[in-house]
Amino acid sequence: MKAYAFLKRLSQAFLHAIFPPKCLICSAYYYNSWQASGGSDASYSISDVTDPYFCESCRKGLTPIASPFCSRCGLPFVSREGDDHTCSECLLEKKYFRKARAFGVYDGSLMEAIHLLKYRKKSSLSRPLSALTRETFFQFWDVDGIDLLVSVPLHVKRLRERGFNQAHLLIARWAKQEGIPFDGLTLSRSRWTEPQTTLSRTERQKNIKGAFSLRHPEKIKGRKILIVDDVYTTGATVNECARVLIKAGAEFVDVLTLARGV
Ligand SMILES: [Zn+2]
Ligand SMILES: [Zn+2]
Repeated sequence: MKAYAFLKRLSQAFLHAIFPPKCLICSAYYYNSWQASGGSDASYSISDVTDPYFCESCRKGLTPIASPFCSRCGLPFVSREGDDHTCSECLLEKKYFRKARAFGVYDGSLMEAIHLLKYRKKSSLSRPLSALTRETFFQFWDVDGIDLLVSVPLHVKRLRERGFNQAHLLIARWAKQEGIPFDGLTLSRSRWTEPQTTLSRTERQKNIKGAFSLRHPEKIKGRKILIVDDVYTTGATVNECARVLIKAGAEFVDVLTLARGV
């Protein structure tokens, strides 16, 4: 190890001992072996994203989604054997998007982190959560394969209440760095919908139908579009967004979310 790198590691380990990091999810101070060793030299991995922000116990509460999952909607299968294939729901129900992928299962510490960001406005979480979204993007797409990132819009009333669109926080930082155009305005929520959380699957589909419209449909024609949102629950919201975008002539629509309900 070069002298400079050694000194850097030593000083980081020293600082770490005096100022241990505080977990952004549970607020516990923790010993972070990643930071104490001065970071990893190996190629980038999920732990590079999570270790500096989340304690070990919260990290263990994350469930990254891995194959086998539905090749269409990304639903992880209970059986951990076999290849990706289309789930029974996607065989029966029309999906306007080509594929949906997510970083992790919507439970445990990922659910807690998303709630803290959305409802408690803990904006420091936008950094690790957007980094996880970025990692998931590069796992399934590349910069040349997508023309435009579109966020699921909030109704203006909801936007005023919350003060921000969480989907923007998950993409704005890295989309700009990677040079992927991001459009948070063209797709808009034209109709107020009650929160979907207590609704059944069919009720959600009914509730969301006709809720979105396009301000500039010409921006969508012939484009390869990736819709980004924080959580995929039943897929009713993103499917309705995809329907509107396909109707306006999008070449295809894919979906990326941070979390996925199972
Ligand atoms: Zn924690
Ligand atoms: Zn499916």
